[in-house]
Amino acid sequence: MEYRKLPKGTEKISILGLGTSSIQASGEKEIEETVAMAIENGINFFDMASSEAKPFAAYGRAIAGVRDKVYFQLHFGANYETGTYGWTTDLDKVKRSVDWQLSMLKTDYIDFGFIHCIDEMSDLCLAEKSGTIDYLMQLKEQGVVRHIGLSSHTPELVNQILDRGILDILMFSINPAYDYQDSTEVDYAIGSVTERMNLYRRCEKEGVGISVMKAFGGGQLLNARTSPFRKALTEYQCIQYALDKPGVLTVLPGIRGKEDLERILGFCKASEEEKDYSVIGTFAPQDAEGVCVYCNHCQPCPAGLNVGLINKYYDLSRAGDQLARGHYEKLEIKADQCIKCGHCNKRCPFHVDQAARMAEISAYFNGKDNG
Ligand code: SF4
Ligand code: SF4
Repeated sequence: MEYRKLPKGTEKISILGLGTSSIQASGEKEIEETVAMAIENGINFFDMASSEAKPFAAYGRAIAGVRDKVYFQLHFGANYETGTYGWTTDLDKVKRSVDWQLSMLKTDYIDFGFIHCIDEMSDLCLAEKSGTIDYLMQLKEQGVVRHIGLSSHTPELVNQILDRGILDILMFSINPAYDYQDSTEVDYAIGSVTERMNLYRRCEKEGVGISVMKAFGGGQLLNARTSPFRKALTEYQCIQYALDKPGVLTVLPGIRGKEDLERILGFCKASEEEKDYSVIGTFAPQDAEGVCVYCNHCQPCPAGLNVGLINKYYDLSRAGDQLARGHYEKLEIKADQCIKCGHCNKRCPFHVDQAARMAEISAYFNGKDNG
């Protein structure tokens, strides 16, 4: 398992985490065994926006003795008093639900306390007016909550909350369908490609890690019949796509039990070919043309350039990320070593003129273009 460090913290988070929205399909015993199996295989990050109350006690039993080795995202606004998920902004209910979740998980602290499901301006107003955000901040001051997070599908609102500088983590839906499709066709595909990519870059620049929900577009992308591209992608392609986006720390597939977990864990041993998602270049719409998505499908470069990484650092640096230039400087082979062979131009499914871009990147980092 590979781990990525939370920028504002010491936590090292597994690139594969678990979502909890589908696990209720299993009985309590299997849920407990599934979580134990995930931990044994190096998964240490669990989102707890469950569809039902049932999984909490099973999670509590599975983490007994290893609490300090796992991280939970708990949602302030997810309410389980009826036995199934409900959304609430009533502060008393929020408090009761958080206390209940802690008691079920047999813990007294929350690694990541989330402002839950803010998709509309009215959601944000309600979370504010009810005192939920203040309550989260108080718990953080008391040390009960270690980091503040936000779950949302709406870039514009995320940007507004990022402006406040309170977030250490964002739970956001990332997949090729949401990034490249019109929201009138696909639920949650909110914001243009540019707006969404700028958000990921802003998160990386400001040290806000991203945990990814809906990496498979709610399963839509895995089936040609339901995929908005009319072609299916695999789970591994979708996971790699999300992991390649700036700011992303972990992807949280919603599994139903041990069988799903075993398949997802296969990602760690999957070949580069199995994870290669560049096929989306053949069906992403016009606005993806000429935009580098850092997929490295154009490799190998005869001059040894890591084309995807060089492009990522360039985009981040231009977005104002102070660290990106330093990361670029540390690369052994930089853009100015491009021999303009054109191999990458021929291989790139997104039709990026990479040979020209390397000249642009080289000029930028050598101070000849600060644009
Ligand atoms: S140039 Fe094309 S193939 Fe290469 S990393 Fe960028 S998008 Fe991928
Ligand atoms: S054009 Fe430059 S970056 Fe692309 S493959 Fe050739 S040497 Fe590598």
